[in-house]
Amino acid sequence: MEASFLIDTTKCIGCRGCQTACKQWNQNQADKTKISPKFTNPVKLNAKTYTNIDFFESEKDGSLSWNFARNGCFHCKKPSCVSACPVAALIKTKEGPVIYRAERCIGCRYCMLACPFNIPKFEWENISPRIQKCTFCHERILDNKIPACAKTCPSGTIHFGDSIENNLKEARRRLSENPGRYFNHIYGEKEAGGTSVLLLSALPLDQIGFQKVGDAALPDLTWKYISGIPAIIGVVLAAGIGSWIITRRNKNMHEEDKSNDAGTR
Ligand code: SF4
Ligand code: SF4
Repeated sequence: MEASFLIDTTKCIGCRGCQTACKQWNQNQADKTKISPKFTNPVKLNAKTYTNIDFFESEKDGSLSWNFARNGCFHCKKPSCVSACPVAALIKTKEGPVIYRAERCIGCRYCMLACPFNIPKFEWENISPRIQKCTFCHERILDNKIPACAKTCPSGTIHFGDSIENNLKEARRRLSENPGRYFNHIYGEKEAGGTSVLLLSALPLDQIGFQKVGDAALPDLTWKYISGIPAIIGVVLAAGIGSWIITRRNKNMHEEDKSNDAGTR
């Protein structure tokens, strides 16, 4: 089994039921927010909000049209957050969800730098901060329940399946049977090497907030870049210790010379 979402944004009615169910299941506090001009609320994901509905206003056949996009972790097949973490605090489970183990985290935040979708968030206001992001409701999946957001969605926008391949087949079927309804692209099929969350949309995906991230799986690239940072720190540290030892040795020799000089007078 590999858990997968097929999110058909053309079905979304913007009710935010998924957003609320996610908060409730994860017992995440409400955010203090202001209504944004485009009605997205809260405006961005944060450590207490793992998923939100983004509102996009457009014009279709001369009249106002709304499009809604659901944001959250894509649970990449080869997650760069996992490969960037030096202490394996993030792992890709065999069931598909990418989950976080707070007890291992050292707070380096490499995962935040590595994620191409800007998903992991840090608890900046907490005195012992953790990383937070969607868990794909891993514990519910282990208990044979579907994720809280998918269970709550009243319009069938979030389809949960136990195989990425089956969700891909379903996405292709919808595209071929109803080409006028969709922009012809399955977001997540190839992005970042492929993800467990697949998206369909009426508009080009970049018009509803989904960045172009390229098809390459990023772990190798990010790890090459990030693994250089500790090496640089190591070199600086080693240079510092080396210079401290040399200075100390010179000082001792100088003091010895002085006491020898004093003894011969
Ligand atoms: S979307 Fe980001 S946080 Fe989620 S699995 Fe992929 S790299 Fe990790
Ligand atoms: S899968 Fe669970 S944690 Fe992830 S957005 Fe849905 S309800 Fe929230």
